[in-house]
Amino acid sequence: MDYLFTELRDRLPMPDVARFYGLEVNRAGFANCPFHPDNEPSLKIYDDHYHCFGCGAHGDVTDFVARLFGVSQYEAAKKLDYDFGLHLTDQPFHAQIKRVVNPEVEYHNWLHSAERILNDYLNAMCRWQRYYAPKRPDEPLHPLFGESLTNMEYYQYIYEQIRFGSETEKREWYENGREIIERLQERMKQHDMTGLSVKRKAI
Ligand SMILES: [Zn+2]
Repeated sequence: MDYLFTELRDRLPMPDVARFYGLEVNRAGFANCPFHPDNEPSLKIYDDHYHCFGCGAHGDVTDFVARLFGVSQYEAAKKLDYDFGLHLTDQPFHAQIKRVVNPEVEYHNWLHSAERILNDYLNAMCRWQRYYAPKRPDEPLHPLFGESLTNMEYYQYIYEQIRFGSETEKREWYENGREIIERLQERMKQHDMTGLSVKRKAI
């Protein structure tokens, strides 16, 4: 059985595993810790293990999955083997294992990521307002300039509520406003892709 744990540790880079199970790992190798309410990304993802500077959670890929899904080390190893298609063991695996969700952690992580998405969008709109401002009065409005005029105030309001609002206001957005943030995230992805294609054409 030790062979299985060693093999998983050698074959599966910790960052891939963390991303596979939904963590957003930033460029510095940090993610919001799923094991405690985390406002700053304090979980460092190394190549072969993770360590949380907030709550002290620490371990390798198998420990990570065991903790995330609330299962034994052995069940976690079988799950990794199955999810990554390694075929290291032919022991039956119970595919219905569900992730253990700590509602407080989910809520805090959502607030943090909503704040970041809104902040990115507001910054983008500021850039569009400068960059695409019409130079002459008869010039047709650039769509991105138009979008920033229409949306700036509304999203600024949401940002302030999520960042500085009362606990009740924040919870209210978490309960009823998640779709708005999801749509915004899609919108930003679309914009990033458009940005890339423009850059490519220019080369
Ligand atoms: Zn932690």
